[in-house]
Amino acid sequence: MSSSGGMKPSDIVRYLDRYVIGQNEAKRTLAVAVYTHRRKLSLGRDNATGMDKSNVLIVGPTGCGKTLLCATLARQLAIPFVTADATVLAQSQYVGQEIEAILARLLERAGGDLRQAEQGIVFIDEVDKLRMADSGKRAAASGESVQHALLKIMEGYPVHLPDGRAIDTKGILFICGGAFVDLERIMERTRSYGYIATTEGDDAKILERLNSRVKPTDLVEFGLIPEFTGRLPIVVRVQPLSREMLARVMVEPHDALYRQFQAILAEEGVRLVVAPRVFEQIADIALEYKAGARSLRGIFEELLTPVLFVIPDRPEVKQVHIRSLYEAPVFVGEQEVSGNSGGASRIPSD
Ligand code: ADP
Repeated sequence: MSSSGGMKPSDIVRYLDRYVIGQNEAKRTLAVAVYTHRRKLSLGRDNATGMDKSNVLIVGPTGCGKTLLCATLARQLAIPFVTADATVLAQSQYVGQEIEAILARLLERAGGDLRQAEQGIVFIDEVDKLRMADSGKRAAASGESVQHALLKIMEGYPVHLPDGRAIDTKGILFICGGAFVDLERIMERTRSYGYIATTEGDDAKILERLNSRVKPTDLVEFGLIPEFTGRLPIVVRVQPLSREMLARVMVEPHDALYRQFQAILAEEGVRLVVAPRVFEQIADIALEYKAGARSLRGIFEELLTPVLFVIPDRPEVKQVHIRSLYEAPVFVGEQEVSGNSGGASRIPSD
């Protein structure tokens, strides 16, 4: 059996599709990166040539699935997984200790099995906040020094853990994430127009593809140190979620909000029916909040609070229909369900 649990990149993508909406390019690149990483690990065991690790950088707006992609991937392949926040590292007096703590958590996730932890995945969010220009007075450690500290573990140095053991970081896959807000502008400036002035055909396609890639020099211009970007050879981009995608996030994933609340109400013998329009209305509000899919849960729960409040007192209710975010839910009793719906009752909207 292969070290990725017999999973090919296409299997990995298919699994990711069940939980993550869109981000197709990121799914493929991540699947191949993790697959290749696992392959290298299994080769490395009986191969003295060693291996060169390819850590990954995911660039894209907040709340669009960066963490979700990594967590889902790790769960599927049963790889120990932890997340950490670069801004927390920058605020800490003792960056080294913070890093030890991250690896100690990884070990904990691996159930104390050092060998497993040494093949885990660490996701470090907000590395864009480590840009040199940003390391102002508030940060205890400068962004640059945090980059240097992270570089060590990304390069594969062993780290001593609080429990006295040493963890080898050579086989740990580091995935860094960040919004990199000004990156687009930098990339626009460093666009290549190629030597051949073609506007159609393969040359133009190649050029377009080249230009959509984030170059290491772009990241350096953004404010990361070259050694750090050098340790992140794979750069993946996630896209902002559109209104339509935000609506799908609430409905389609296996653990989607709608399914979760349907399950909760099913426990009470009640069928929850939310009109598609409602998800679009919620998506519109979420777009305003500019936090990707992050604000969906709050809005959805608020919508359902009056329902969850009333249902336990109303055993005769068998269905709840929500037709609009701005209309009170309609409660349908046993008799109405079995035919005549004239008696559907509305509760006061407050
Ligand atoms: P970030 O890109 O900031 O790491 P997360 O992956 O943590 O964002 O997303 C926050 C939450 O929003 C997730 O837990 C998930 O519920 C939801 N979410 C974000 N993006 C997607 C997506 N593409 N598909 C499905 N759910 C998503």
